Amino acid sequence: MYIADLNRYNNMVYLRCGKSGLKLPAISLGFWHNFGYSDSFENMREIVKKAFDLGITHFDLANNYGPPPGGAEENFGRILKFDLKPYRDEIIISTKAGYKMWDGPYGDWGSKKYLLASLDQSLKRMNLDYVDIFYSHRPDPETPIEETMEALYQAVHSGKALYAGISNYNPEQTKTAYSAAKQMGLKLIVNQVRYSMFARDVENGLFDVLEELGMGAVIYSPLAQGLLTDRYLNGIPEDSRVKKSGVFLKESDITPEKIEKVKKLGEIAKRRGQTISQLALSWILRNKVVASVIVGASKVSQIEDNAGCINNLEFSEQELREIDEILK
Ligand code: NDP
Repeated sequence: MYIADLNRYNNMVYLRCGKSGLKLPAISLGFWHNFGYSDSFENMREIVKKAFDLGITHFDLANNYGPPPGGAEENFGRILKFDLKPYRDEIIISTKAGYKMWDGPYGDWGSKKYLLASLDQSLKRMNLDYVDIFYSHRPDPETPIEETMEALYQAVHSGKALYAGISNYNPEQTKTAYSAAKQMGLKLIVNQVRYSMFARDVENGLFDVLEELGMGAVIYSPLAQGLLTDRYLNGIPEDSRVKKSGVFLKESDITPEKIEKVKKLGEIAKRRGQTISQLALSWILRNKVVASVIVGASKVSQIEDNAGCINNLEFSEQELREIDEILK
């Protein structure tokens, strides 16, 4: 029987998500890759237990994570049942709907019909009464934003979700969604967006909008799917995302220019007493609007490494300039 580490809350940092009452761990664990039926169940179970032992209280899922779609939620449901159920009130579970999940006109995008049916399916797969955060996974250009927000409102007011969020909404879409939700009496607390040393577009406006609205930013792909680590410094390992999946991170993404930059970042990391991944994560956490950084992990050692970033979150002006110079 799993008994969580008694010291699990001693080291992790918990950050407020915008102006809400919810605090999230600086590092969260994501289930996009490595939690499907083609992965080892025992390995994912060890990763989740280690994460929780390290104070990582937030697990980020979506209806379509797998393979097959839904597989990650089912596997997480089993881990909950075997190991984490006694700790449910210490855990934040997020899920999303917005990408293609089933055939026909009601299995994709942002209609009320799709979002609420999908949430019911997610709850069933994880064997939960409620999730903590339910997200509209992406903006839908065809569905009126009021309808998508009404679906989130209904999810919260029916008790199937405690908080509502959006993901991949740009600054304008964020403002529109926020005010549509507000008119219904729903407060959107978070926008989940991609951000890393290699993908900095959210610095140009979105972070300001979130701050202004009192929303938090939850960050995905902070390590550029593994590029901002030592993973690809000496070629492409057989057990890496590039070799195993190769769809979202491809061999052609591992360019000599990027590897050169990662090596230079490695020198700064070394001076700071950090690994490259720790440097990449603490650099993201320097932004005050960031409430949590969701990392992926295929091994227990990776989640341990990543959680260690919280031991050095301060940057000097000189370090930030050097990093900007490398990333230019
Ligand atoms: P990362 O950028 O953290 O990439 C994770 C990958 O990096 C791991 O699978 C592993 O690759 C490698 N890695 C992680 N830590 C280390 C380490 N310490 N040393 C060496 N390699 C390491 O994030 P993801 O792209 O996985 O995204 C994280 C989460 O964000 C997802 O699981 C999901 O929950 C969420 N997300 C949300 C999206 C949205 O639209 N809202 C879109 C995408 C993600 P390897 O497998 O090769 O070992």
